[in-house]
Amino acid sequence: MMGVKDRAAAVAELLAGEYPDARCELDYRSPWGLLVATMLSAQCTDVRVNRVTPDLFARWPEPVDLAAAGQKEVEAVIRSTGMYRRKAASLRAAAWIVAEQHGGAPPAEIDALVALPGVGRKTAKVVLGEGFGVAAGVTVDTHVRRLARRLGLTNLEDAEKIAAELEELLPRDEWISFSTRMILHGRRVCTARSPRCEDCVLADICPKDGVTR
Ligand code: SF4
Repeated sequence: MMGVKDRAAAVAELLAGEYPDARCELDYRSPWGLLVATMLSAQCTDVRVNRVTPDLFARWPEPVDLAAAGQKEVEAVIRSTGMYRRKAASLRAAAWIVAEQHGGAPPAEIDALVALPGVGRKTAKVVLGEGFGVAAGVTVDTHVRRLARRLGLTNLEDAEKIAAELEELLPRDEWISFSTRMILHGRRVCTARSPRCEDCVLADICPKDGVTR
């Protein structure tokens, strides 16, 4: 019977073989663009975010521009991403702080990122990992949580606690790519409603915890 640390290493290796060039599916051109896209992606698909951001950045290219934009104008542009009032307010407030206090670029430091309105630890880890190449931790979204539980890597519910467990199990230089690949695998194979275990590269080592089919 494989121990949990060995299983985590095997999962990381198999997923690396399956998704060698895995990257975040949000489109962005700068750390600021990634921060905005990640904030918009809450409760929304990356595809939908990618449809909105070109218009957003055409109108307000830099944080200083978005900070000066009207609430209603921003709401109108990002409406299709859901929770648009709260997201517009957070984006404008974060843009103002980035423009005023960070010289127009998001800070590459987790405490400064989570101090921005609307930015939680998950968003901060994505921006640090993808935007700056800084492994601040494993990002645990709904896909990573579901897969980690099915794969028997955790039996916890809380995303931050699961992240801490996965960070114990994996070497730091795998944190970023592991999250990205787990998310891709969760979208393509180990979906919430109907995991395709018969087609899954992890099937031989997966205990399939909680999978009823
Ligand atoms: S074997 Fe099934 S439950 Fe396990 S990771 Fe693959 S699809 Fe998910």
